[in-house]
Amino acid sequence: MLIVKKFGGSSVANKERIFNVARRCIEEYKNGSDVVVVLSAMGDTTDQLIAMAEDINPKAKKREMDMLLTTGEQVSAALMAMAMQALDVPAVSLNAFQVMMHSTSRYGNARFKRVETERILHELDSRKIVIVTGFQGVNKYDDITTLGRGGSDTTAVALAAALHADRCEIYTDVDGVFTADPRVVKNARKLDEVTYDEMLELASLGAKVLHNRSVEMAKKYNVELVVRSSLNDTEGTVVREGADMEKLLVTGVAADKNTARISVIGVLDKPGIAFNIFDTLAKNNINVDIILQSVGREGTKDISFTVAGDDMEHAIEILEKNKKRLTIKEVSCNPNVAKLSVVGAGMMSNPGVAAKMFEALYNSRVNINMISTSEIRITVLVDEKDIDKAMNAVHDGFAMGE
Ligand code: ASP
Ligand code: MG
Repeated sequence: MLIVKKFGGSSVANKERIFNVARRCIEEYKNGSDVVVVLSAMGDTTDQLIAMAEDINPKAKKREMDMLLTTGEQVSAALMAMAMQALDVPAVSLNAFQVMMHSTSRYGNARFKRVETERILHELDSRKIVIVTGFQGVNKYDDITTLGRGGSDTTAVALAAALHADRCEIYTDVDGVFTADPRVVKNARKLDEVTYDEMLELASLGAKVLHNRSVEMAKKYNVELVVRSSLNDTEGTVVREGADMEKLLVTGVAADKNTARISVIGVLDKPGIAFNIFDTLAKNNINVDIILQSVGREGTKDISFTVAGDDMEHAIEILEKNKKRLTIKEVSCNPNVAKLSVVGAGMMSNPGVAAKMFEALYNSRVNINMISTSEIRITVLVDEKDIDKAMNAVHDGFAMGE
């Protein structure tokens, strides 16, 4: 049996926790399994490294940022190997270079291309626990890259896929995936199972338990994931394909406060205008989410859409700069909005989910600004001040806590 176990930064934040993780891995090893451990940097090391870089040079090159940030994972991997060795268990730490985890060349947001397994298999053969740095890749220039924040999950899945692991366990500081954020919704319930697609919708909507790309990769290579706590023995949540799952109508509700609404007012009501507006935004790397267009009047119309809160100022700047060409009379915005979504694979075959969601919102007098849907998701835009109330109302409305 080959098991990949990934531990997040809070699970290795100090000496006591490092030994706690070491013991958990050793237990598995002593039961006869081959164990590969993927680690994040200790605690908030990565944030601290970013702050140090900003202090020295706010415009630091991404290549150097990656050189800096990857040190965090190297520290935790080396210390973990030392902890295991202190407990008389043979262990070896390896970074992305030593494993040869080939990635694209894009610093700060690289993707894996191919992962070599020879070195790891060799170390496992000699009965060592293998500890691999998360978050890192190596590009074609033999430079070290990073996979983007939270990328260690993706390292774990990539290794599980390449090694044909029997299990891939992602250990974190929560007990699993919940029906809603337990800090906001008191009776949120831990889910036993979710599908890859549900997890993807939940993750991109702010329930950031797993790195999105790790779920995409797990789906592609059919790697079953278990998300569970490193601090207790609770079972956790299994993420896998949902063919034989009891299809819940809705699985969870998620909120995303990092959202802003932008409206362009009085644009010409003729073909090509929407294309030009959204093409201009896309060329400037601005992702647009929910889009709403008003009915035309006197040859003009208004278009409203949402962007990530961090992108709002940049988007407005671009629209103002191109105002004339895009035939915009006026640009307005509202940063104080939030997205609320219900997600569930069972939605596909059940009408009435939207109506039920809107009823729950009406009952607690929450106004809906915009609506968008996918096969397994319904999203509404509400005022940010209403978001916690809205989340509770919808969670209760679907009796997700029971
Ligand atoms: N240490 C990196 C981060 O904080 C990667 C990870 O934790 O997954 O983003
Ligand atoms: Mg994480």
